Amino acid sequence: MSTEQRNAKQKILGIIGGMSWESTESYYRLINEGIKSELGNLHSADLLIHSVDFAPIGELQAQGAWEEMGEILANSGKRLQAAGAQGLLIATNTMHKVVDEVQAATGLPIIHIADATAKAIKNKGLTRVALLGTQFTMTQDFYKQRLIDAGLQVFIPDADAREEVHRVIYDELCQGQLLDSSRQYYRQVIEDLAEQGCEGVILGCTEIGLLIKQADSPIPVFDTTAIHAAAAVDFLLGNANF
Ligand code: GLU
Repeated sequence: MSTEQRNAKQKILGIIGGMSWESTESYYRLINEGIKSELGNLHSADLLIHSVDFAPIGELQAQGAWEEMGEILANSGKRLQAAGAQGLLIATNTMHKVVDEVQAATGLPIIHIADATAKAIKNKGLTRVALLGTQFTMTQDFYKQRLIDAGLQVFIPDADAREEVHRVIYDELCQGQLLDSSRQYYRQVIEDLAEQGCEGVILGCTEIGLLIKQADSPIPVFDTTAIHAAAAVDFLLGNANF
């Protein structure tokens, strides 16, 4: 890489984070590691982060008050834009349910987590994938349909397993608790889905990667936090059209 490229100015990315902060911390580390590995030396990512208080958001999710959450995230996006962000990243799968509201409020490019994930899966030549995440992500169209539209076949756990996968996210992972018993449970859920013919599994919640690694799965794992962070690095370096 030439000195000119090395000194090239990065774009400025605004991250809407805090949902939960446990995963925003992962994003911060992964994006900085990505920039360091691309640019070397003392380089780090040119980021703005607005980290929201997750408790009220969690309550609004449980109430299904998506319009209100759309306003909250749109305001967050506008604050980041006013601070100089040239693009946005919503650091959670679930809250992509209101991505259109954020887009409409800011007009900024938004790095969509499901699009980045579908691309990563297709690059590996897979089509039948399992999806683990919150109930919202696993059962509603805003996320799944986007994967299906990209040409993937998407499988989700049965109702009991969905409930437990969702509970672990909110009661444990979003509160920094990584329990062996839950890791074991997730492993079993993934094994069952692999037996049903899934060729890969999407860790479709940004905290699951804290609990489950490739070694826990008989099929390739697609960690949405890592994939989304890699797409953020591409954005910062101007390597991709968003
Ligand atoms: N971070 C999680 C996700 O990726 C769940 C928390 C939230 O609802 O934002 O979906």
